Amino acid sequence: MSKVIDALNCKCPNCKKGNMFPDKGKRILLNIPKMSDTCPVCNYKFEREPGFFFGAMFVSYALAAAQMITSLIVFWYFIDLSPLKVFSIIAVIAFLLSTFNYKLSRSIWIYLFYK
Ligand SMILES: [Zn+2]
Repeated sequence: MSKVIDALNCKCPNCKKGNMFPDKGKRILLNIPKMSDTCPVCNYKFEREPGFFFGAMFVSYALAAAQMITSLIVFWYFIDLSPLKVFSIIAVIAFLLSTFNYKLSRSIWIYLFYK
């Protein structure tokens, strides 16, 4: 369970102390966050090989799809808004959470392949 919490907090999988992203605390940004190459505490290299984070794209896709489906269920079935309003809300939510998904997908990807 602590691995899940560490992955959600974007902590280093090796020492669990260093931050993968120096701008921690800013969950929603409108620019692509800069990821550290190595852990500031234990010097663990995050990108194990060139193109390692290509697979994080699939994790990001799954996160975005889950958020959009959840938004659809909430705003369409429970709140009963019009389709155009629901689409607009989902588009705004997807845009605002894109940075969060970027960070989280990379963190999850690192934890999936950490031995
Ligand atoms: Zn570390």
